[in-house]
Amino acid sequence: MNSKEPNTTSSFPSFPSIRWWSKETVAIVTGANKGIGYAMVKRLSELGVTVILTARDTARGLKAVETLKGLGLDVYFHCLDISNHASILEFASWFKCEFGKLDILVNNAAISYNEIHENSVEHADEVIQTNYYGPKSLIEALFPFFSRSLTTTRVLNLSSRLGLLNKVKNSKIKQTLLYEEQLSEDQIDKIVNLFIDDVKKGRWSSRGWPENWTDYAVSKLALNAYSKVLANRYQGRGLSVNCFCPGHTQTSMTHGTGNYTADAAAELGVNIALIPAKDLPTGKFFLRSSRGVYFNAYSKL
Ligand code: NDP
Repeated sequence: MNSKEPNTTSSFPSFPSIRWWSKETVAIVTGANKGIGYAMVKRLSELGVTVILTARDTARGLKAVETLKGLGLDVYFHCLDISNHASILEFASWFKCEFGKLDILVNNAAISYNEIHENSVEHADEVIQTNYYGPKSLIEALFPFFSRSLTTTRVLNLSSRLGLLNKVKNSKIKQTLLYEEQLSEDQIDKIVNLFIDDVKKGRWSSRGWPENWTDYAVSKLALNAYSKVLANRYQGRGLSVNCFCPGHTQTSMTHGTGNYTADAAAELGVNIALIPAKDLPTGKFFLRSSRGVYFNAYSKL
């Protein structure tokens, strides 16, 4: 364990002690017309970061921009559907012309078709496509702009504790994911394909996949693992990739239930995204518990 890896709970991360960012600092937030994404755009913009609010639906996105304008906040908008590769490419091309360098990417957009106490895998394909392949494809498309960033580029993937390894009962899958230092993208894709195959064959419920919100949990499991692969690959090369579970938050996804407001979740997310480079870990999973906020490698949580 290195010095950036506390194993105790703490109030970390509090508001960054060093204000290293400026109006030149550029952030993209996906799925930001509502919920935690919208609140993160608001907070980042309040703090003086240049923010691009993206949404899959232009009308909903522009409405959010107008609301922010009413609060005295000026943000950019571009349409982005992370489940649609053409939309990702079009967005990347627009971004290249308008900005050309990226400091912060918040992969926030996600879907779930589950009700709070239900577990359906009816939309498993779409959930995996959006929540795992969506952020992955967007990161790949925006990669050329990371390297132009003058400071460490930060990717913050909104994830969920439902996708932690301790939710997986299948020992073979667990073992593969546990050895995160050796893990490859190919292995993660194979695990995801195995899940989709189990769903198609109607045997998913007996194969040791996470028991709550199974398709959503598998999508976040894969996102956590991919984040670690990426973090390992770019360790020490100006890219930090972390995951963050905001805790049960009052948004559309939870039908307004939960312990935290979207603003409270966003404040924490923004504090993580703005950790000064010298203290910024990579490949970690940030988790909120009743005792505070802590982070560690996802395989150790
Ligand atoms: P919401 O359902 O309130 O918001 C989700 C956002 O994602 C919406 O703006 C939605 O757009 C957008 N979105 C969905 N699909 C796409 C797509 N294909 N392309 C672009 N945007 C899309 O959810 P939350 O704010 O609660 O969730 C935000 C993140 O936090 C998610 O990653 C979620 O998994 C995570 N999280 C949330 C928790 C909670 O308790 N709320 C707990 C743990 C994690 P539209 O309005 O068009 O549908």
